[in-house]
Amino acid sequence: MDMDAFFASVEQLTRPTVRGRPVLVGGLGPRGTVAGASYEAREYGAKSAMPMAEARRRCPVSVVLPPRFRVYQAVSRHVLGIVRETSDVVQQVSVDEAFLEPTELAGAPVQRVEEFAASLRERVQREVGVVASIGAGPGKQLAKIASGLAKPDGMLVVPPEEQLELLWALPVRTMWGIGPVTESKLHRIGVSTIGELAAMHPQDVTSLLGQAIGTELHRLAQGIDDHPVAERAEAKQVSAETTFDHDITDRETLLAEVVGQAENAHRRLVASGRAARTVTLKVRDSDFTTISRAETFSSATSDLHTLSAAARRLLPIAVPPGTPVRLVGVSFSGLATSEQESLFDHPADPDDDLPEAEPEASGPADAPPPSARQWRAGDDVRHTEHGHGWVQGAGHGRVTVRFETAATERGVARTFSVDDPQLSTADPLDSLGLEVDQPCGGGGR
Ligand SMILES: [Mg+2]
Repeated sequence: MDMDAFFASVEQLTRPTVRGRPVLVGGLGPRGTVAGASYEAREYGAKSAMPMAEARRRCPVSVVLPPRFRVYQAVSRHVLGIVRETSDVVQQVSVDEAFLEPTELAGAPVQRVEEFAASLRERVQREVGVVASIGAGPGKQLAKIASGLAKPDGMLVVPPEEQLELLWALPVRTMWGIGPVTESKLHRIGVSTIGELAAMHPQDVTSLLGQAIGTELHRLAQGIDDHPVAERAEAKQVSAETTFDHDITDRETLLAEVVGQAENAHRRLVASGRAARTVTLKVRDSDFTTISRAETFSSATSDLHTLSAAARRLLPIAVPPGTPVRLVGVSFSGLATSEQESLFDHPADPDDDLPEAEPEASGPADAPPPSARQWRAGDDVRHTEHGHGWVQGAGHGRVTVRFETAATERGVARTFSVDDPQLSTADPLDSLGLEVDQPCGGGGR
């Protein structure tokens, strides 16, 4: 089961005004990337992992919103709760994806699997308000491929006797474990479909791709897939690193590499639906000495700017300027399943009940005085009279707020002075509309 355009769908759920409109979720900064794009935005060629500037160029009419991972996680927990009620064996893969292996469906005919999938999809849509596509087949790889083919808003059950016909027509890149490097190795010997890989002699596959990987990929290409559906222990950290072809000494080049690895690790962090408290920078110099330096925040964050700024600050602490460096790596640990909204993400508000201490790290954390409050497009706010809303735009001392939640109709937009005392920062979880007149509540169920 894979949720359709999950981040953007949750935005459309909690902000009725953007339903049916192109929505881009992601960082707005010059290096921001798209974390989620609604199907309406995809029609213009915008998609996930694309630089935000490029996506906005392709789809200038899109609504751009900063990610609200706590809200996505709350919706994800709701969906997974339903999934666990329907299936005894579940493996959550990410915030919007899970494998199910309901014991009751073992050996069941296709029609019963279809009924199961249709009723689960209907329940998720009705009780949560987001769309899940479902693929089913003999084995996890095929189920995953089928869920991709089922999108958007669909389901596809692949009967065992049809699995090879489907699998063999697909490009090799579709398979698990085949990245660009393996793909180009296969392309060079004229193998481009899974069927062509399956038809190779096993020894040719292993001599080309190595014993372990070659054997595994060749088996998968034959439709032999015995990967179990099982909860995995959660990783304690996510990381990314790169080794250079030539040692790098230039500081600016190194800083750019550090930021690049922070972005790579950040993608994995976001995909796992988590936030991190600790940033570790690993540097290996030309003598193969490895140095690690870490910085810890007072609360977990998934904000790319905050995390990569910490990684940058660690570089001069790890190696003196002029040191030739052969490897840099960035890892995030102290992972929290639920993001504590940190002071980095939102200026502190005098009306807010934020319990966090001051962050240890220096940075853009200093709260502006109430008279200079800054509202950012997409911020959740509460007005003493109009209730919960979100900032549509701000500037010239004014802020425009759209008052609506998942539980309301499309709301009315009103404009206030930025320092209107009736306006305060709100808990993003309130946009789910699960609370009634509980301005300081703990966020939902
Ligand atoms: Mg998805």
